[in-house]
Amino acid sequence: MQAEKPREARDEVPEIRDVKRTTCCVVGGGPGGAVLALLLARAGVDVMLLEAHPDFDREFRGDTLHPSVMEIMDQLGLADRLLELQHTEARSFTLQTVSGPFTPVDFSRVDTKFPYITMMPQTSFLEFITGEAKRYPNFRLVMEARVRELIEEDNVIRGVRYEAEDGPHEVRAVLTVGADGRGSRVRRLAGFEPVKTSPPMDVLWFKLPREEGDPEGLVGRFGRGHIAVMLDRQDYWQAGYVIPKGTYPELRRQGLESLHRGFAELMPEYADRIEHVKDWKQASLLSVESSICPRWYRPGLLLIGDAAHVMSPVAGVGINYAIQDAVAAANVLSGPLKNSQERLVNLDAKYLAAVQRRRELPTRLIQRFQALIQQRVLAPTLRSNAPFAPPPFLRLLLRVPIVRNIPSRIVAFGFWPVGVKK
Ligand SMILES: Cc1cc2nc3c(=O)[nH]c(=O)nc-3n(C[C@H](O)[C@H](O)[C@H](O)COP(=O)(O)OP(=O)(O)OC[C@H]3O[C@@H](n4cnc5c(N)ncnc54)[C@H](O)[C@@H]3O)c2cc1C
Repeated sequence: MQAEKPREARDEVPEIRDVKRTTCCVVGGGPGGAVLALLLARAGVDVMLLEAHPDFDREFRGDTLHPSVMEIMDQLGLADRLLELQHTEARSFTLQTVSGPFTPVDFSRVDTKFPYITMMPQTSFLEFITGEAKRYPNFRLVMEARVRELIEEDNVIRGVRYEAEDGPHEVRAVLTVGADGRGSRVRRLAGFEPVKTSPPMDVLWFKLPREEGDPEGLVGRFGRGHIAVMLDRQDYWQAGYVIPKGTYPELRRQGLESLHRGFAELMPEYADRIEHVKDWKQASLLSVESSICPRWYRPGLLLIGDAAHVMSPVAGVGINYAIQDAVAAANVLSGPLKNSQERLVNLDAKYLAAVQRRRELPTRLIQRFQALIQQRVLAPTLRSNAPFAPPPFLRLLLRVPIVRNIPSRIVAFGFWPVGVKK
């Protein structure tokens, strides 16, 4: 047993190890934070990226890069090198239904150089982006930096305090960006409260082995109270099993056989593979959320990505939207940040308001689109024991030339997509 420290030692406030200065301090090295840091560094802005984890090797949290992201990479001259990394390409999304295959999303119908979703481990993507950023001397990356506090003076956020292995550190910055994801600490410390809606489902994610002859890309099936999606990850399937919201404890109580049975009924051709899930530890639960902060900024502080708006997994647009926020923020803020770096002046909050204005409407629109699919398609499927058949009007609608491209375009680009400002 460890001896208790004397009281004085326990109450001692650890001394700040050092105070660093930068122009923009980005908290969180996920897709949004990493891309923003790269874009600012490329524009000549001093930027420090703080990431809580020791590396980018993380639990599965979506490995999809949509056509809009690939076009951004192309504008940066990075697409070809990115595509040299191991990846797969999903060109359409086909559901097997009782009335035959149904393909609501087909990227060949979209006008883009990249008519597919690039499926690449987030680790590879984040290492690639931060590797690019490291080519700029004005970029600094600090791993294992867990941000604990905001520094606030005269109602302006002036940076953060973070905890590292060797103790607490301070970063002083003209702008602090909270890109620290769905459970954002920066958001909470800044006093922002997201407005939540409750999607009707949760998702259990697990890996299943792939075998020769398996189809490529995305596979999905709806019916009998459940939904399954399988993402081709070359060496394995990343399988998502959608269950009605809040029913995970009941599923666990029923035992793994219940998961095996439900999945096998839906995907009989993969019935033997689900047997590979032998322990609940092999499955991770995504508690599906959808939310948006009414306000994304305060003087000296901006939220982007999941910190500003958590996305439902419908259409898998979370990464896409976080990166588009980053691009919009860099487009608006690079000039003003360089100006404040050179002339040592504060950043006018009107620029932060401009970022929110640019991104709030596209976010609200895609969340509406997701809510519509949740209410009209997913919730009835999860409530019913019957096999899923797409409503005949939907099949008809998707045969009309100008209409049939709309879902594919929305998934590929979202609403009002952003490009890198030259
Ligand atoms: C299981 C699962 C599956 C998903 N599937 C998909 C999908 O298929 N497609 C898709 O587009 N989206 C998917 N998403 C959503 C997607 O992961 C997010 O929308 C996206 O990652 C948001 O990017 P971000 O940069 O805003 O935040 P995040 O990716 O969450 O990154 C936040 C970063 O901040 C770091 N951080 C947190 N707190 C601190 C702190 N205090 N100090 C320093 N660093 C901190 C974290 O370690 C993390 O690296 C999925 C999410 C989950 C959980």
